[in-house]
Amino acid sequence: MRAQHDLEADRVAAAFGGYTSCLRLEAPVTAANDGLELLARRVPADGPWTVGGLDETEAVTQSLGPAPDGGPLEIRVECRTSRTASRGKQHSVVIEPDWTVRTPHDLEAERVAAAFGGFTSCLELVDKVIPAVQSTLPLLLRRRLARLTRTKDERVIWSAVSVRGCRCHRGTFTSARDAATHLRSPAHLVKQYAVSPRPLTNVLAAVEGAWGGIDAPTAEARARADRVVREFRGSESLWAAGLHPEHVLEFAALAPGIDEPLPEAFFLGVAYSGVDVTWLTATVASRPETAGAAWLAWVPADKGSAYLSALQDWYSLGLSRRQIEALTIEGVSITAAEALARTTGRALRTGGADLAAWALAGCRPTVEHFQVLDQHGLGSTYSPSRAAVDRLVEVAQRYSPSPSRTELGVLLSLEGTQRGVEVQLERGIRSMAELIATHRRTWHDS
Ligand SMILES: [Zn+2]
Ligand SMILES: [Zn+2]
Repeated sequence: MRAQHDLEADRVAAAFGGYTSCLRLEAPVTAANDGLELLARRVPADGPWTVGGLDETEAVTQSLGPAPDGGPLEIRVECRTSRTASRGKQHSVVIEPDWTVRTPHDLEAERVAAAFGGFTSCLELVDKVIPAVQSTLPLLLRRRLARLTRTKDERVIWSAVSVRGCRCHRGTFTSARDAATHLRSPAHLVKQYAVSPRPLTNVLAAVEGAWGGIDAPTAEARARADRVVREFRGSESLWAAGLHPEHVLEFAALAPGIDEPLPEAFFLGVAYSGVDVTWLTATVASRPETAGAAWLAWVPADKGSAYLSALQDWYSLGLSRRQIEALTIEGVSITAAEALARTTGRALRTGGADLAAWALAGCRPTVEHFQVLDQHGLGSTYSPSRAAVDRLVEVAQRYSPSPSRTELGVLLSLEGTQRGVEVQLERGIRSMAELIATHRRTWHDS
């Protein structure tokens, strides 16, 4: 099997808790490999699973036949020989385990006839409808995750990989369940594969009937998966949202150290957010909390490695989501908290919390700022208000050069009021250092 990864490197990483879905994809093929035993064991005997918005992979589609027993599937079809005919004669076709189709027709001759204007509905059946059902089967059996994205603007919006002319092209969905249900619906498939509705629903019904259990996971699989999902009958609603109980169990293992059930949001995040699962596992392990895990599962890998490692640092320190978001937005790294802890004798976590209090107001004080604030007893007790700093930034525009937002925030904390800062600005003070220097002079003069 060829993949774009260095699978050997991925395997070494997996031995240390790393993860890549492609390894898993490869697992059934190389199950004899010693290093893969653990991963291979997690792969159900009846076929591979895909994770994290992979494209339709041949490995998945080829491994599932039209019937679960690996045998052929015989279906009755209506054979129309004219484009305008609404009905036709019934006959059987046989879908072989490799999805080749046996019909009573000489299809090559029918193809030649079609080029000259002839028509046989079985040509579409064989060339388009049955391949469409073959491609869709992994989605119907929840062996392949749907391609969904969630955007969080003013409201949460789910969108599917849309197909022109379909309702998913014009609109979005309010839940993963709705979006995934649409992607499996005949209305969507007809547009996606440009096939006639009647033969499609006919073949779908036959294949679904053969496989069974398309509407819900088996009771046994459900019972196992329900144990790791917090919501009542969680595995069923996740099934509707496109996740197999095996996905649910596999994803739960990405939250090491958490023994209690995880919220559905965690599983949907892993499935659809594009989170880096290796990062997720390491970050959750550093502080195993369900609410944290459900949040982290929604952080997409495309935020970049600098952002992700900063988030991980702050998270493991025990800060709240609000604090961490403020710090990452302001681009404050853990080294700032380390320097603050080293210089002022604070605990590292306190340093992070103090930096976060200022980050929430859009300020990034230096170690020198904190040293002066500490002298005034303000270092860990004062929380600047964002609105107050906003007003001050506006006022300060009248003074040239106007101080930075952080200097204004620190001046405000030392002076106590906006008016007090304005007085200092009138006197030409533009920074904390200048304010301290004048205070010293005043002290010396008196
Ligand atoms: Zn026919
Ligand atoms: Zn659609």
